[in-house]
This record gives sequence, structure tokens and C-alpha cells, in this order.
Amino acid sequence: MKTIGVLTSGGDAPGMNAAIRAVVRTAIFKGMKVYGIRRGYNGLINGDIREMDLKSVGEILHRGGTILNTARSEIFKTEEGLKKAVTVINVFGIEGLVVIGGDGSFRGARDLSALGVPTVGIPGTIDNDIPCTDYTIGFDTAVNTVLDAINKIRDTVSSHERTNIIEVMGRRHGDIAIYTGLAGGAEGILIPEMPLDIDNLCRRIIEGRNRGKSSSIIILAEGAGKALELEKIIEQKTGMETRATVLGYIQRGGSPTAADIILASRMGYHAVELLEKNIGNRVVCIRDNKITDCDINEALSMESRFDKELFELAQILSI
Ligand code: ADP
Repeated sequence: MKTIGVLTSGGDAPGMNAAIRAVVRTAIFKGMKVYGIRRGYNGLINGDIREMDLKSVGEILHRGGTILNTARSEIFKTEEGLKKAVTVINVFGIEGLVVIGGDGSFRGARDLSALGVPTVGIPGTIDNDIPCTDYTIGFDTAVNTVLDAINKIRDTVSSHERTNIIEVMGRRHGDIAIYTGLAGGAEGILIPEMPLDIDNLCRRIIEGRNRGKSSSIIILAEGAGKALELEKIIEQKTGMETRATVLGYIQRGGSPTAADIILASRMGYHAVELLEKNIGNRVVCIRDNKITDCDINEALSMESRFDKELFELAQILSI
């Protein structure tokens, strides 16, 4: 393969730029031409494509977001949109593609592979919700951002002897809540994977206060409930002043951590190695700290995993 393309799609995540840099520089190192496609699959359909050189990915390692921009493309999901994308790919002589994004983006990558464009997916999403990989790019940064927020909120919560519910991202998957709950010593973690037991939670808060705890932090994944509704219920059931904080988009931004930059660099390199061998329809993953890959269809049909042990450890240690 002599010419490849790279795009970012779906939700942005810190570390995507490091993945783009790795793809571009590995490709050039291997003597390939590499095109950057802007605005996700929309860029393929619109021909929003430019050749990347070594300098085009200079000074981006520390930047959050994605220099290629990202988008959601409804038209790409139609047969007409997909065919248009393939036509543009052929016009540019692109023989293989790297798609950095989440599971929605991988569905698009699978469709392109089926139409003869070998496409490799790199998991870039803060939610860590791609079951074939232990970690996705952006997750570690988001966890550290939330941890910083928890520690700041803890200062004011303990001064006022309050309970604070912190709503974090995670519609279907609770990893951000579990990891930040454990690292931030949260008194309660509410995730979509576990049924909400409000009475048990309130009992833990009351018992903690009776033992002399000056504050309680509850981490709530957005898929498990709404912080503003829980605020009222907890205040009513515990008699303790309760506040809610919804962190929102700050979790998506910021400079990637070293762990995310390193993960993105390793994954980007591996993706190009696959294309070099003309291998597509794969998702790059990390398992037991080894970079590997798996079939996209397999990746998409794998059941969502949930680290129950870590969840239970957090509960035990936060007594
Ligand atoms: P993420 O990749 O972060 O999960 P989305 O689910 O929004 O984000 O998907 C990003 C883009 O991938 C969509 O806008 C669409 O262009 C493409 N995509 C999503 N689902 C499909 C699908 N079932 N078939 C083909 N393309 C899809």
C-alpha cells in the first residue's frame, strides 16, 4: 500500500492528535503518502482532504481535541453517501484508511472495508466503552480531569459538611465513574451497569456522618440517573445538605496525559503496520499492555464489559 488516509470521527477525545501524528509519521517513515481527511466521514464525501507532511503534525501532541476536526455524518450512513465516499477515496488514490473514533465510527469503517477499502479503527473515546480493548484513547485524561474536579469539590464540601453528587459522562458505561470514584475516594458510585439502590446509598451516607465523616462525594454516571433529581431525594432521605455538580464537557478537553499520548502513539503505529500488509477491517486494541488487533465485526458484537471487582473495591475502601 502506497497511499493511506486518516480521519477522526464521532466524539473527540484527548490523545486523538497523538494518534494522527503517529499515523502520519509512521506512514512517511515507511515511504507512504498520507492524506488527512477533515470532519470525519463528511470530509470523505465532500473531498475535504489534504496531504499531510511531517510538519503538519508538529506541535500537536499536547493539544486536546483533533486537528482534523470531527463530525457526525448522517449521509454517510446511507447507501448513496457510502458510495460517494468510496468514489472520492478512489479519486485520491487512497488504498487504505485509519479511522479514529468510537463504535459508531467503526460501523462506518466496517462498511468501507466491505466495499474494498481496507480500513483500520483506532479506539478514541473518553468513555472506555469498546470491549475489545482494555483502554481507549482519552479515557485516562478524562479520569484525571474528573479526579482534579473531585478533589477541588471535596475541599468545599468538607468545609460545609455537605454531600455532593458529581455527574460524570457515561451513558451506557460506568468506567469513568468507577475509576474516578476509586481514585477520588467517593462514598458512592452509581453506574448504569448496577441497579440504583438509593436507600442503601443514603444509609451509607448517614453511617459515614455518624462515624465523623465531614463530607460525602457521590459519583454518578449520567446513564444511571440525573444529579439534580438525586440531590433532592438524598437531601430528603439523609437530612444532610446536598448539592449537585454536572461536569459536562470539561471532561472531554485538555492536554492528554502521558498515558494517553503513549497509547495513541503505539496504536497509530500499529494501524499503519496493518495497512502496510494490506490488512483491513480490524480494530487496534491494547490487552495486558500489548498492542494487538481484532476483527471489527467481532469488536462490534462483543458484550460490554464492566469491572465489577474494581467497583466493589471502591465500595469497600470508601466506608
Ligand atoms: P462514535 O464513533 O464516537 O461512537 P457516532 O456513533 O456518532 O460516534 O458515529 C460517528 C459516525 O460514524 C456517524 O456520524 C456516522 O457517520 C458513522 N456511523 C455511525 N453508525 C453507523 C452505522 N451503523 N453504519 C455506518 N456508519 C455509521
